[in-house]
Amino acid sequence: MPLWVGPMNTHLNGHKELTAQNEIVTVKPKGDVYIPLSNGNNAAVEVLVKEGDKVKVGSLLAKRSVPFIVPLYSSVSGTVGPVKSMMHAVLKPCDHLVIHDDGKYEKIQAFKPLDFEKASREELVDFIMNSGLQGCGGAGFPTYMKYKNPVGINTLIINAVECEPYITADYRTMKEFIEDLVYGTKALLKASTAKEAIIAIKKNKVEVCHKIQALLATEPNIRLFMVPDLYPMGWERTLVHKYTNKRYDKLPSEIGVIVNNATTAVTLAQSLKLGKATDEKIVTFSGDGLKHPVNVRVPYGTTIKDVVEAIGGYSSEDVLLIAGGPMMGKTITTDQFVVTQYANAITILKTKPEEALACMRCGRCNDTCPAGLLPVRINNAEAAKDLDLIAKLSADQCIECGLCSYICPSRIDVTEGVRRAKRALQLRKK
Ligand code: SF4
Ligand code: SF4
Repeated sequence: MPLWVGPMNTHLNGHKELTAQNEIVTVKPKGDVYIPLSNGNNAAVEVLVKEGDKVKVGSLLAKRSVPFIVPLYSSVSGTVGPVKSMMHAVLKPCDHLVIHDDGKYEKIQAFKPLDFEKASREELVDFIMNSGLQGCGGAGFPTYMKYKNPVGINTLIINAVECEPYITADYRTMKEFIEDLVYGTKALLKASTAKEAIIAIKKNKVEVCHKIQALLATEPNIRLFMVPDLYPMGWERTLVHKYTNKRYDKLPSEIGVIVNNATTAVTLAQSLKLGKATDEKIVTFSGDGLKHPVNVRVPYGTTIKDVVEAIGGYSSEDVLLIAGGPMMGKTITTDQFVVTQYANAITILKTKPEEALACMRCGRCNDTCPAGLLPVRINNAEAAKDLDLIAKLSADQCIECGLCSYICPSRIDVTEGVRRAKRALQLRKK
């Protein structure tokens, strides 16, 4: 049984107004792009090009095959450079293939488009695998894996909730490509074998909700599901429970549900129609650490440094960089890492030195935790290096939502302590 019992009723200041209404800005890299060959997990990769080869946007560069198949296509045209170790957004160094961008962006069709309505379900799933599509909600899990052997699936949930503060990339992507959202949802519905699909979105996205509803008038098996503006409503467990009133242990498929992010559906639609691999991403660059927060459209593999310079630079010398949103993202100490195919946001905040006070035992962190944990007790157990107690307190169930730090009146970074506790448990298991 999952431990999740929390109240799920925290409304956060979303700061979405910083970027939600601005047009998406196209940014190009300044010279080289760096294609991550793994997601920081040292997966086996076969590089299919050699230094000096000419490539175009859409050229197949490499293929990961263990533990999942993920082909990697070029995001720019130019010349293949060396393999270089660089920091990845998951906070680990990993190999990146350098492509010297020639600035021409010449394209080739990466693969043949597919009429998914005529194709068999198996052909569709193979197409998703060969397109290299990875979940665009930030996790980067290969999409085809969820659809390979679906058993007893009743519902497909397209997650357009985007509950993290600052992030508006899904919202802007949906606004721009609303027909692709529905087309991609139809394709994923077929791949899932489910009877119905729902597109889950916050009810305050009125304009987009109306447009989706109009498009769904002729789609009897797809419905809009509007949810309140609460955090972490977009967390998979919360959303699945909100819709089905059921809980699961590890994967939503245990209760007949598959969940994919809205931008993943849009990206699949474009691959099906155009034979196009994911070569660029719409990513939110936001926070008070930037002069001009905005959503950018950028070739994947472009460094954060190049993007920040192109959109006007930092607003302060002392900033905190977060790969993702401020609640669930990871703080990273350099801007020399790249936009991945599944990145959705970079949050950049001015550093505000704040001294933590002693814990006043108010219990707010415990009351707020959506996973039903006792964060302050885990934090204390971590400080005492008491691994048995950490295990007993189920620290491994933490989803790193950041609420326990957000809510703490003593400004204690409780989440960081819980993260350390989780890592210590993982190390012990190994
Ligand atoms: S980060 Fe804190 S509030 Fe969020 S799940 Fe983990 S322990 Fe609970
Ligand atoms: S919210 Fe902060 S002050 Fe209150 S119990 Fe938790 S750690 Fe202590």
